[in-house]
Amino acid sequence: MKERAHSLPSFSAWLNKGFDLRAHAAQMADARTDPEISPSSVFLAVFHSFAFRLPSFQQLDRELSHSYLQSWIDAERAFGDDTLRYSLCGFELDPLEAMLVDVNRRLKRGKAFDEGRVQGCLVAALDGIEVLSSFSRRCERCLERRVTLKDPAGRKIEQTQYYHRAVGCQMVHSPVKPFLAIEWLQPGEGEDAAALRLLQRLPGLYGSRFFDILLLDALYVQTPVLQLVHKIGWDAVISLKQNSRDLYQSAVRLFASRPPDVGFTEQRDHKTYHVQLWDTEGLPFTIDNPEPVRVVRSEEVLERNRYRQGERTSYSTDHEWLWVTTLSTRLFPTPVIRQLGHSRWKNENNGWMDLTKHWAFKHGFLHARRHRPEQINVSGERELVPNHGLAAVTFILLIAFALTSAFVLRHSKLARRDHLSAITVAAQLRASASKAPPPIRAPD
Ligand SMILES: [Zn+2]
Repeated sequence: MKERAHSLPSFSAWLNKGFDLRAHAAQMADARTDPEISPSSVFLAVFHSFAFRLPSFQQLDRELSHSYLQSWIDAERAFGDDTLRYSLCGFELDPLEAMLVDVNRRLKRGKAFDEGRVQGCLVAALDGIEVLSSFSRRCERCLERRVTLKDPAGRKIEQTQYYHRAVGCQMVHSPVKPFLAIEWLQPGEGEDAAALRLLQRLPGLYGSRFFDILLLDALYVQTPVLQLVHKIGWDAVISLKQNSRDLYQSAVRLFASRPPDVGFTEQRDHKTYHVQLWDTEGLPFTIDNPEPVRVVRSEEVLERNRYRQGERTSYSTDHEWLWVTTLSTRLFPTPVIRQLGHSRWKNENNGWMDLTKHWAFKHGFLHARRHRPEQINVSGERELVPNHGLAAVTFILLIAFALTSAFVLRHSKLARRDHLSAITVAAQLRASASKAPPPIRAPD
């Protein structure tokens, strides 16, 4: 008989065989002394909470007391979200990052990134992501900004907002799009500083050729970024906007004086794009660093149909994009640069947006929590451990995102046969945790 729905035992077997889930879980550690509930069980609980797409830790709390999940994650007893939070605040981040790296390496070995290669190349993108913001809760590592609000009487008032922001590097060309690494902005520093730190760390985590092409937004039209990309041996496609005044203006002036190099019409998602492309090599990158670079400009008229009072009318909008790239004209023709430039834009919609919207990633309390384990500092005084809650939960989310996408998009025959969405698969796994008693000992 054919299986009708996904089950937790088969999901777990796949995770343990292909990705050593339980061996990784056993490496987890936190700052508690002699805890009754092990860091491994805490990790597995949060991992399953994301895999099941549970809406909150409170829901996980209920799930642990009502389903077989508790024995599935090797916990001696049910435990509440308070235990989870206390453990996560002092969680060690290195084993989590090591697991994320190992998962991605295994995905690559298993050919998960072969589909969608661009001219044979693997493509990653770097993006800034804002994780949470608050007017009241804050911690010592919060970033701060002044924002203008309206009070109940409609008057404008300024208030300080606290928030956390990170930079993430994500594979983008293939259907499975895991994050490779993440770097948090420290108070007072810009996104570019965190991004450079992340890029410098990547070869140490993955080797320099884990991917070939890096897509970046307009903030990164900077000499240090270009130098680093050259040094590591990647190629880059970077959005070019008016904030890079000299390069932008010399490109716009040059292209205005000549007809497009390529023109074509493209149909996508019931929309028609009339595209004109310009391409030049040899424009000076900046005044201080006049190294010649290639710039591509795309002028696109997007035609859409609109229905008004039962009548179809067509209307159009104009769009302009520019990119600066290190890729050669011979191997990467102009339309391919446009395609690469647009895939970074898609990443903004499919990466963090998806994670924050559809993955219940709203654990704001984790950053401002005072109830944390203590440690002895260098002067022999007791102090609270640094709060890793937000970073730890983010890592577990990224691990769950990578593994469940690979399960749905590459492994599951059911998902393919029945055209199941990732959310449906998550619901089936969650239901299975209430139905299927696990083996006496969960499989290794
Ligand atoms: Zn904070």
